[in-house]
Amino acid sequence: MFDFDVIVVGAGPAGSVAAKTTASAGLKTILLEKRQEIGTPVRCGEATVTREEIEKFIPISENWINSEILTAKIISPSGKEAHKKKASKIGLIVERKIFDRALAEQAASFGSEIYCRYTVVGLTENGVKVNSFGKEFELTGRYIVAADGIESQVARFAGINNSLKLKELYPCIQYLVKDIEIENGCPEIHVGNQIAPGGYVWVFPKGEKIANIGIGISANKSKDKNAKAYLDEFMGRKFPKGKIIGMILGGVPTSSYTKNLIHKNILFVGDAARQVNPLTGGGIFFALNSGKYAGEAIIEAFTKNDNSLLQNYQKRWDADFGKTFANYSKLRDIFIQTNDKELDFLVEAANQVLKETENETNFNSVIIDTLFKIFSKHPKFLLKAGLSFLKGS
Ligand SMILES: Cc1cc2nc3c(=O)[nH]c(=O)nc-3n(C[C@H](O)[C@H](O)[C@H](O)COP(=O)(O)OP(=O)(O)OC[C@H]3O[C@@H](n4cnc5c(N)ncnc54)[C@H](O)[C@@H]3O)c2cc1C
Repeated sequence: MFDFDVIVVGAGPAGSVAAKTTASAGLKTILLEKRQEIGTPVRCGEATVTREEIEKFIPISENWINSEILTAKIISPSGKEAHKKKASKIGLIVERKIFDRALAEQAASFGSEIYCRYTVVGLTENGVKVNSFGKEFELTGRYIVAADGIESQVARFAGINNSLKLKELYPCIQYLVKDIEIENGCPEIHVGNQIAPGGYVWVFPKGEKIANIGIGISANKSKDKNAKAYLDEFMGRKFPKGKIIGMILGGVPTSSYTKNLIHKNILFVGDAARQVNPLTGGGIFFALNSGKYAGEAIIEAFTKNDNSLLQNYQKRWDADFGKTFANYSKLRDIFIQTNDKELDFLVEAANQVLKETENETNFNSVIIDTLFKIFSKHPKFLLKAGLSFLKGS
């Protein structure tokens, strides 16, 4: 007999949705979080998909919506702009502190147990070893969901090497900045090898005169300057009078998702499975989906008493997102090799494409569709990337 049917490690978006899914089907579920409070500290730019897409996971509450994304701008090294001018609701800026807690509360209201300051410190034959306030004990469970984020230790406890190569890990730093002139509803992406080598600076408005301003850079390309130095330079140039009232540090995996999402009775979800957009670094949407898919595969395996059905998580994920991730990875490869002159050209071309197509429904599709259209018009970028699109498609 197990203490629990499902043990979920980590109460981020992926873990909370997994716990809600299995608990709502009547499986005895426990959600373990090492921090004392769910949702803090936030390590996120907080930009995500539309209300409609989020509503599939949790009823919308204005409590955790800071701002609606209506338009967007990409700014090139020399200051050229690709501007989606026509307003339509293409995404949200959420208050992760409240959003993450709401997801965990939802899991609880569907019957999951939740414990904070419960750190999983090892795996046992039948479950996990937990440390809480210095006391160590075992919890047994039939299935384990590893939702423990980018540093996933569960993988290591299971003997899986999940370390990221230098080129696959983007160091990030973000400031919460007040008293700045920005257009609420219009996120900005600034690109350029002197601005953010291999990555970008984001300005994500959380309201009038307040924004998350952050940077992610390729550790491989940045040589002797760190992400903070680049961000400080940007702040000095663009928002010298901005008041920094918060700061976060973190890393984003850009490796595309891990090949094997399931190991024995352990299912890896969210950042722990590297389910992060390799081009933009966005992971909230994928974390929500992976929690749901993994939870649903567990329900099937449990009810039919057949653990091979856990593989349905992998099958669904590959079918629904495999190609998308492959495409994002190829776009990232092209982006990383692009010099500033080419970035200027790309941004100008993007502006043209955006003028012609103003009816996209979400932020990601604005970026991705625009890039695809540019590449099909200007195949030299495909050549530059070693024809990786042609080879892979
Ligand atoms: C600077 C930065 C900016 C970002 N901006 C965006 C953005 O704008 N939009 C977007 O979509 N994505 C963004 N992301 C990515 C996004 O934050 C993640 O993809 C998302 O949080 C993944 O959710 P998750 O549930 O997998 O993991 P997490 O949210 O990391 O949650 C993992 C949880 O597991 C807990 N945990 C870890 N180890 C243990 C343990 N041993 N025992 C118990 N609990 C444990 C942690 O405390 C944590 O609460 C950003 C990331 C960074 C670093």
